[in-house]
Amino acid sequence: MATRRDFYDDAQWERFLDFSKNLETPCLIIDLEIIKRNYIDLKKQFPYATVFYAVKSNPAKEVIELLRDLDSNFDIASIYELDKVLSLGVKPERLSYGNTIKRTKDIKYFYERGVRLFATDSKADLQNIAKYAPASKVFVRILVEGSETADWPLSKKFGCHPDMAYNLIVEAKELGLDPYGISFHVGSQQRDIGQWDEAIAKTRYLFTALEEEENIRLKMINMGGGFPAHYMQKANDLSDYAQEITRYLKEDFPYDFPEIILEPGRSLVGDSGVLVSEVILISRKNNTALHRWVYVDVGKFNGLIETLDESIKYPVFTEQDFNGKLGDVILAGPTCDSQDIMYEKLKYQLPLNLVVGDRLYWLSTGAYTSSYCSVEFNGFPPMKAYFLPLKQD
Ligand SMILES: *Cc1c(COP(=O)(O)O)cnc(C)c1O
Repeated sequence: MATRRDFYDDAQWERFLDFSKNLETPCLIIDLEIIKRNYIDLKKQFPYATVFYAVKSNPAKEVIELLRDLDSNFDIASIYELDKVLSLGVKPERLSYGNTIKRTKDIKYFYERGVRLFATDSKADLQNIAKYAPASKVFVRILVEGSETADWPLSKKFGCHPDMAYNLIVEAKELGLDPYGISFHVGSQQRDIGQWDEAIAKTRYLFTALEEEENIRLKMINMGGGFPAHYMQKANDLSDYAQEITRYLKEDFPYDFPEIILEPGRSLVGDSGVLVSEVILISRKNNTALHRWVYVDVGKFNGLIETLDESIKYPVFTEQDFNGKLGDVILAGPTCDSQDIMYEKLKYQLPLNLVVGDRLYWLSTGAYTSSYCSVEFNGFPPMKAYFLPLKQD
């Protein structure tokens, strides 16, 4: 069984504990230093890529400012994200409108504020872009496999068949847009690196066919996100991803290496967060039950939505590394919705001497948590987030 040291070393852990000691639970502590380290590492692993941070994974001002200062670009999904990022001084040339589902008036809004890079995956959306964001660069998102091996799949809803992508690129040119490239997303927390191989091969086919048959020379591949954060189920290191994916690219594009965009969310910010919760109740449902129910003050509706279907398995620890005996628990949240159970099939192990009032720490919760909180379900407010500042050099 994994221990806390598999995720944070003692110094790092002390930093989290010290900082959170006197804070009310539930709360999320984000260590900006970890995001900075992850960003620098990503740039080192993929030196040829341009990074567009997927703002949705953690839209906090502090995170956006940090990545702004590290020269990141930003992948934006709505006018609200757009306003926020622009208000923090990011120039529109550093932004893409990556959501393929857009209201026409929002396309116009983005265009008027200077954004010139748009994703699409349908004819209707493409025509709207041509009309409300004339001459902009567009990239077409293709459907890819990968839902079996991604912990949080993004397939099906987005992207189109490569044959349709071909037609959309041709039409983009006819409509006076700049047909710029192809994008895909192999699914978030994608554990099978080979999924990029297949997606890149499909992209290669489109680059070749469009050049040979239509004389359209695409320039860019947007390889989306999907890179891992550290959860209970192990994933390869980012360096393994980089090495393999770079090889696929070189094999498929030996003479015409394209511009590469990455849109990481989870892998940049996931590991930066520790969610601090408190045990509210411990019970058993019958006199001989082998497992305890442990109810905490955080749940699916205030931060842990990605435990749906037990998809993301966060490391959960008490303050001390376990030295006593452990027993099976079902972990559930505080609301009056019976869906508000985080882990039931997979039995987490917590100390037998756990008592009400103890704190449980949910590790690697920097991505897709605070922004997913409900506003007032059962009256519970969204979780508060706090930021550990960068260390001074
Ligand atoms: C959510 C999203 C991402 C981020 O994916 P991660 O797996 O969190 O890195 C990137 N691109 C698009 C278009 C997305 O919707």
